Amino acid sequence: MTIDGPDSAAHGALPPGTLWTSTDIDTLREKFYQLYIAVEQSPAATAITDTEGRIEYVNQRFLDVTGYRREELLGKTPAMIQSGMTPESVYRDMWATLRSGRVWKGELQNRKKSGELYWEAETITPVRDDRGRIVNFIAVKEDITERKRQEDELKVLASAFETGQATLITDPEMRIERVNQAFTDITGYRAEEVIGQTPRLFKSGHHDRAFYARLWDSLLKTGHWQGEIWNRNKYGDIYPLWQSITAIRDEAGEIRHFIAVFHSIAERKQMESELERQATRDHLTGVHNRRAFDTAIRQAIRQAEQGGDAFSLLLFDVDHFKAVNDTHGHDTGDAILRRLAERVGHSLRSTDLLARWGGEEFAILLLDTPLKGALTFAERLRQQVAATRFQGLAITVSLGLTDYQPGDAPDSLLSRADAALYRAKRSGRNATRVAGR
Ligand code: GH3
Ligand code: MG
Ligand code: MG
Repeated sequence: MTIDGPDSAAHGALPPGTLWTSTDIDTLREKFYQLYIAVEQSPAATAITDTEGRIEYVNQRFLDVTGYRREELLGKTPAMIQSGMTPESVYRDMWATLRSGRVWKGELQNRKKSGELYWEAETITPVRDDRGRIVNFIAVKEDITERKRQEDELKVLASAFETGQATLITDPEMRIERVNQAFTDITGYRAEEVIGQTPRLFKSGHHDRAFYARLWDSLLKTGHWQGEIWNRNKYGDIYPLWQSITAIRDEAGEIRHFIAVFHSIAERKQMESELERQATRDHLTGVHNRRAFDTAIRQAIRQAEQGGDAFSLLLFDVDHFKAVNDTHGHDTGDAILRRLAERVGHSLRSTDLLARWGGEEFAILLLDTPLKGALTFAERLRQQVAATRFQGLAITVSLGLTDYQPGDAPDSLLSRADAALYRAKRSGRNATRVAGR
């Protein structure tokens, strides 16, 4: 038997047709054994099949790689380890090449017994007998899974560079090696200003140590982190980014690079907060709307039920406002409502919540405020309004006040405050009344 390619030593030693002596046979046996040991111990997975592709021999490495036992493979075809991921045309080309007696080289994705996929670079050589007939095929395979993984990563990287996502590549010590144009567009830094520096340059002070500890933990454990991060650009502005960082490791598992890909989410954030503001604010005065007030009052009740501090609820309504509109016009009325909301807003503490309840009626939630303090506040507010000119006009308000009672629901609180407000109106307006218990 001869092997395609350079003549083997064994063939050279014993040309066909030689009459073999028993010494020759001993030599041959010894040479065969040497060859067998060499193949068996080769670090390249090796298989010998018959011309139909049935496996006649696999070496130890082949078993180690695939996870099969020898007896599970012998007599079977390499379809055993096919992944189904390789296009049919590759196999067609392989068989056409081999049947015509040529060596086939290619890359195949195969599947281990465990189901895991791996990549191999294979060289399959047809083996001929003395008369030149193909009698076997020898496949020698090299595991290229790691190389394929790196190629994939490079592809991702290349596409990130092209698609205009801001990209930054560092060495394992986080020193910046490369940035792209989109990076410069977002951060204001040109490549030559940041290469050799670390991304600490962009720290905004917006995140605590625990944030960075979590980021590093994820990056080193899973090889990846993504999330929202606030950075500082070249001009000192702090802006939000959506950033994804990947650790690139080599075959030995050592980190070779970090790659960060990011885009600005400033516009999205602004839009979100504007939408949120619109959903909770009154469009005329800009103070909270009824919905926001409703949420706040429910939360205050929950806290009070859990033993939190007392709170009070104040409703107030502009006196004879219809007359103001009738005399000075609706626009003036609107302007007065805006100025009034602004004026009242200035008298509030940060824990108080002012809402436009409807028309010319407003509500204030006074957290951590027992009735006595709330009454002092209400009276001061009434006097301040009476003493202020709005669009050059004097207006007054009537106020109804109540405080949280155990078992209160939003409705019971509001209807008590409303009843008190009604009594303030009945008493002649420009007055505060406290709800009876
Ligand atoms: P009272 O002292 O009893 O509260 O008298 P009033 O005229 O204020 O009460 P009423 O409920 O009869 O009328 C409220 C008026 O408030 C009706 C409307 O002309 C005016 N108003 C309600 N909402 C607005 C608003 O958004 N803009 C303006 N300009 N006026 C409003
Ligand atoms: Mg009114
Ligand atoms: Mg009213």
